[in-house]
Amino acid sequence: MLDLVLAGGELVLPDTGVVRGSVGIKDGRIAAIAEAGETLTAAETIDCRDKWVMPGLIDPHTHIGFGAKELDFETEARSAAIGGVTSLLTFHRSPDLRQSTPEWIAEGETRSCIDFGLHFGLTSKLHIDTLVETAQRFGVTSFKVYLMYKGAAGAAKGFTEIDDGLLYRTLLQARQVPGGVVGVHCENVEVIPVFRGPLKEAGRDDLAAWDEQSPDFLEAENVSRVIYFGAKAECPVNIVHLSSAEGLEIVRRHRLFHRNPVTIETCAHYLCMTRDDPAGIVAKVNPPLRRKADCDALWEGVRDGAIVTVGSDHVPRKRATKGPDLWGASAGFPGLATLLPLLIEDGYYDRGIPLERIAAVTSLNVAKLYGLRGKGAIAVGNDADLVVVDPHTIRMVDHAELASHSDYTPVQGRMLRGWPVHTLSRGRHLLADGHLTEAALTAPAGRYLRRG
Ligand SMILES: [Zn+2]
Repeated sequence: MLDLVLAGGELVLPDTGVVRGSVGIKDGRIAAIAEAGETLTAAETIDCRDKWVMPGLIDPHTHIGFGAKELDFETEARSAAIGGVTSLLTFHRSPDLRQSTPEWIAEGETRSCIDFGLHFGLTSKLHIDTLVETAQRFGVTSFKVYLMYKGAAGAAKGFTEIDDGLLYRTLLQARQVPGGVVGVHCENVEVIPVFRGPLKEAGRDDLAAWDEQSPDFLEAENVSRVIYFGAKAECPVNIVHLSSAEGLEIVRRHRLFHRNPVTIETCAHYLCMTRDDPAGIVAKVNPPLRRKADCDALWEGVRDGAIVTVGSDHVPRKRATKGPDLWGASAGFPGLATLLPLLIEDGYYDRGIPLERIAAVTSLNVAKLYGLRGKGAIAVGNDADLVVVDPHTIRMVDHAELASHSDYTPVQGRMLRGWPVHTLSRGRHLLADGHLTEAALTAPAGRYLRRG
């Protein structure tokens, strides 16, 4: 006897299509998939007529710990569940990863109601020297290098060892890790001051000035260098949070002539927001929001498969950090809860992006890229990580309903269609009829996703 059946929904199969059917769950896994007309019996049945049943989202890009460090796993995982996100990958950075990682994993296992994995942020020679060791010990196969923190910009943040040599060493080490992939933040931070100085002097304090101080070609230049190094070092490279049409074009051209794997991640805000957004400096983020033409190009990348994953770059800080002006405001904002509704509204409804593409970039492709076994697809034997979406529910985004530590959202007040009504993590109800469950609130059971 099955534990639970999601009955008669529109099953969204990543990269394949949408078919009517039912999903049976037992012991936290998908145990049966029935075609339309077939009936599955279980202890509990949820009627999913006129609803979409999608694989739970896997957010590949979050910063758990940037809000209230100790409590973030608790609050942000709940916010994720509201948005249909059933797994997340978060960046972990510390002077010595060997010492800090066990504690951080324990923190997540105690507090998170969804499953989680780590990317290691690499900022020093010690990190590179211990990369293979830490990768094996903690089951981490993805690493991030922050070209934004080179030179003077890095020194201001306490990083003194980030340069192209460190990047290249990372590539050489990471390729020794089975499934290893290096993600790179691409912005040419040495050129930024050329633009920033005059903009500040001119008294600019608008969001568009943030784009002008780090224009698209500074991202594209870094992208170009990184993927060229990746080819020479024979290491898979992942361009994280790609923001510009110019950067996308560089990767498209590279793929014509090189065979080394280059994947691209973008974020919901680069698809759905521009530098002219009414949110103003609250929407300051690195890389900056661009123009509508960039959104258009990135959506085409999602449609044709050039863009492989879409994340939130969730940063759960308080609104008070968004000041006193553009230059002093913190970068980044929360996005876990609104990731899927934004993609549905702007992608599916406005641009006709097929649902199976949206599912691919938010689940299956993430699972494949990062080696998350049993995740990312509606398939027998997989973890029962599922989200039931009501495509017709129209809701105005209100940060107060998103359960994050942060007390704002850059998309406050937007009307979005398509919100999760049920979220299941390994068969456990986290969201039921649109509300966080007792289990999500009081009995978090998220697991650490060991990879490799
Ligand atoms: Zn970054």
